[in-house]
Amino acid sequence: MNEFFKYYNINDYHSTGKGWFKLVKPILEAVDRYNKEHYNIYTDEKIEIFDIKEKFGGLRISLSYYVPELEALVSEAEETSYKTCEECGAEENVSTEKITGWYKTLCDNCRKKFEEKRKEWLKS
Ligand SMILES: [Zn+2]
Repeated sequence: MNEFFKYYNINDYHSTGKGWFKLVKPILEAVDRYNKEHYNIYTDEKIEIFDIKEKFGGLRISLSYYVPELEALVSEAEETSYKTCEECGAEENVSTEKITGWYKTLCDNCRKKFEEKRKEWLKS
């Protein structure tokens, strides 16, 4: 996974759980493909991925400029993220709920673990 992100020049992928990696990967590949297909030797312009993060329980990906076909993929992934556990990638028993002030999209198992961890963390 590290190699993969190095290739795409993404250093900051710590803000979402690895369960969403499968949603992010096709977008990185599509951006890469787009950049190769539209490469302009004179301008050296490329689409960059500004940000990959979690906000209000959903995935957010921002690209450096607007390309309809890529934006469509991004919206689809963002929608799917609400049905995909951020921690383990499960697609069943997934819900977006507020846990101590934060929205998290998790499956029932990961939610239990997350809540326990949170309790431990609050105690210390
Ligand atoms: Zn899970």
